Amino acid sequence: MKICATIPEARAACRDARANRKRLGLVPTMGALHEGHLSLVRAAKAQCDAVAVSIFVNPTQFGPTEDLSKYPRQFDHDCRLLEKEGVEILFAPPVEEIYPGGEVTWVLVEGLSEKLDGRSRPGHFRGVTTIVSKLFHILEPEAAFFGQKDAAQLAVIRRMVQDLNFPVEIVACPIVREPDGLAMSSRNAYLNREERGRALVLQRSLQHAQQEFQTGERIAVKLIYAAKEVFAREPKVALDYFEIVDPDTLDSVERISQKTLVAVAAYVGSTRLIDNIVLNP
Ligand code: AMP
Repeated sequence: MKICATIPEARAACRDARANRKRLGLVPTMGALHEGHLSLVRAAKAQCDAVAVSIFVNPTQFGPTEDLSKYPRQFDHDCRLLEKEGVEILFAPPVEEIYPGGEVTWVLVEGLSEKLDGRSRPGHFRGVTTIVSKLFHILEPEAAFFGQKDAAQLAVIRRMVQDLNFPVEIVACPIVREPDGLAMSSRNAYLNREERGRALVLQRSLQHAQQEFQTGERIAVKLIYAAKEVFAREPKVALDYFEIVDPDTLDSVERISQKTLVAVAAYVGSTRLIDNIVLNP
């Protein structure tokens, strides 16, 4: 695996890979890798001739009171995992390489960036779309792999790719869960034993909404009400949002008549976790 810390190195490595073979797949990450990330790598391996992974804890997508400084970093361990998966290129730049200072240009997907997580985390998606645009320009992948776990991020990125004509196929990969159902996340490492138990309420609330849906309920507010009752029984977890939306526009739906995203975010202690399911009538 070639580890690149600079933009010219990474650009050259990706160009080489694409010259020899054909399709380069990119998996953007913030590191602290787990099976969720590795599932993206495996999907990229299966669908592409060469795979590049980026590890970059992107400061511009963190708010001033968020966990940027304590975000888990385990670079050597991540490298070993990626080596084992047969990744060809790892782009892991220092912050100054990506943001040397004085930047005044941003990529913003208007509207969509203020929905779901964008509403709770102002500026978050502007940071995400800016870094993903930079990675697409630097590495020039044919395909990029993202987790369905970050469903709002996926909608925002798809829209950016469409509006800005990036020649990149966006591939969504299913949510990978722990055996008890908790969606894998680098932030799960913040949870103590009690919090780890309480965190299951996200998954339980989604399952409850899904059961109501399966018994025929199609009115979104009724499903939301049912899910909020599940949260009421776990008072130490603070619900941020529980929403039922169109997966592309992220607008609320009243009645579920087509593929619909049910998304939840909640604070377990100071740790913000997200999860979602897709309902298909
Ligand atoms: P992150 O390192 O948290 O920025 O995540 C990098 C990529 O991995 C994003 O596309 C995430 O959606 C994806 N990802 C994170 N957790 C999971 C998971 N549990 N299952 C599937 N994909 C995931």
